[in-house]
Amino acid sequence: MALRFRNTLSGIKEEFIPIKPGKVGLYTCGPTVYYYPTIGNYRTFIFEDLLRRYLKYKGYEITHVMNLTDVDDKTIRDSRKEGVSLKEFTDRYTRAFFEDLDALGIERAEYYPAATEHINEMVAIIKKLLDRGLAYEVDGNYYFKIAAFPGYGKLAKLDMEGMKAGARVAADEYEKESVSDFALWKAWDEKDGDVYWETGLGKGRPGWHIECSAMSMKYLGNHFDIHCGGVDNMFPHHENEIAQSEGATGEKFVNYWLHSEYLLADNRKMSKSLGNYYTLRDILDKGYSGRALRYLLISSHYRQQLNFTFERLDAARNSLERYNDFIKNLNDYPGGKTTGEAETYIKKVVEGFENNLDDDLNISGALGEIFDFIRDINRLKAEDKLSAQERDKIIETMRRFDTVLNFEIKEQALDARIEELIARRNQARQNKDYALSDKIRDELLAMGIVLEDTPQGVKWKRKI
Ligand code: AMP
Ligand code: ZN
Repeated sequence: MALRFRNTLSGIKEEFIPIKPGKVGLYTCGPTVYYYPTIGNYRTFIFEDLLRRYLKYKGYEITHVMNLTDVDDKTIRDSRKEGVSLKEFTDRYTRAFFEDLDALGIERAEYYPAATEHINEMVAIIKKLLDRGLAYEVDGNYYFKIAAFPGYGKLAKLDMEGMKAGARVAADEYEKESVSDFALWKAWDEKDGDVYWETGLGKGRPGWHIECSAMSMKYLGNHFDIHCGGVDNMFPHHENEIAQSEGATGEKFVNYWLHSEYLLADNRKMSKSLGNYYTLRDILDKGYSGRALRYLLISSHYRQQLNFTFERLDAARNSLERYNDFIKNLNDYPGGKTTGEAETYIKKVVEGFENNLDDDLNISGALGEIFDFIRDINRLKAEDKLSAQERDKIIETMRRFDTVLNFEIKEQALDARIEELIARRNQARQNKDYALSDKIRDELLAMGIVLEDTPQGVKWKRKI
């Protein structure tokens, strides 16, 4: 079956047809680096990771660009409040962002352009808009003239009738009710301190929306395949990106727009400004792993809201453990006699996984198939109806799924260190040095490793 996405622009599910066969240009709005991202931000970034990884699974070659918003109203406001330079301030949160990506098993994009390094590209677009009568200047500020761009509102499905012509908004973020000409370039103002660029447009700084138009088109061309973000980005940010880009080039900007729904807390959007948020650090400090959070955030469909609770995170941790135990135990299984059933189950799970993900990334359906498979194979294994060859094929199948899911916890270097500590502990026990053996057990526990004494000797498990 063909891969289909629900396109915000058309409002319907459409077959995905890339502009260049076999290749995909993907742009995802990145973090504003003014704080540690909330796990709400990561819901969107993990949905985008699923999209990226599934496109690769399908054989596409991806060019994925995620910008870093390192200059806007919020970064300037908070760096000034703290009394540090914009760069020092945003570098700190950029570093934290990349650490978080690793903890969450998010694959790196091909490009992470920073807004402050693309000012010339932004100025060039604004100049084109001026030439085409789509922008105007007031006191050194430049605005996009939405009345001159007929398609305005097509993404967010705005009713443009009755709109007040000539109303202007300077802020980067605003509500649908105040749809207005928006700032492309903001003249220097005292509250910007030393944050400004001297350009052909005068002394000032870019608006937030122009940043994404400039950086997406620079790396992906004027017209590219997929653009993503959370639903809050749809208006005004993405609507404005379309107006700026199509207004400047005269070409279609993006074919498929995909928007992910909110992660909620207490049934409201989790956000820094509402104060109802957790960062990844908060979650790790409570003893959960980044992978458990990844599981939770990826496991419900991206277009459905998800209310965050620790009960849900516990359930995610259990599922992740079952998934990992399955692979680990299969590796330890020597193999029995075949009945041919395994082959049928493998065929079914591969089809189920792909059919579900092809259908606008129906991840809960895909995971349901995998857990049915785990149950069926575990039964065959318990009845010794699985050959070594079938076992290997199952492991290979799971590994292929895992290129998309990235749930398997594999840290071989660490494994060697763990084995060594276990051997030392066994030695200590033989020597009846229980103080030392307890000390090693505690050390392993601190590394997140739990020991189990079994008739076959000591086994270990990673706390998930
Ligand atoms: P920001 O750093 O605020 O520009 O947000 C980065 C990305 O996270 C954007 O695509 C937002 O739409 C998304 N985002 C912010 N809050 C949430 C949330 N509670 N749930 C899902 N996505 C979110
Ligand atoms: Zn953006």
